[in-house]
Amino acid sequence: MPTPPPFMRTCPQCAELLAGLVDAFLQGLTAPLHAEHDGAVRVQILLARHLADVHPDDVPAPHSDGCPACARFERLDSEGVFWREHLARGLFLPDEIARLM
Ligand SMILES: [Zn+2]
Ligand SMILES: [Zn+2]
Repeated sequence: MPTPPPFMRTCPQCAELLAGLVDAFLQGLTAPLHAEHDGAVRVQILLARHLADVHPDDVPAPHSDGCPACARFERLDSEGVFWREHLARGLFLPDEIARLM
């Protein structure tokens, strides 16, 4: 997991969602795989949406290395919140997981 930027520790909603993400991953160590997967994915979506809505200026720049998702968003949805959600995932997930959605 990357170290989240400082603003995610000072924003109460970010901090709460980050804690929920850690909980979901930790539960996955003991719970059945599908439960861990659902919980972690749900929190990831909530956190990415919150970042796109509330912290748009802190969302990273589009991936410039041929990311297929960014290429698709650039064609279809250049101002869209969904592109910001995709980019926001890189703030709190390892790159290979962040780019899955
Ligand atoms: Zn926040
Ligand atoms: Zn991308």
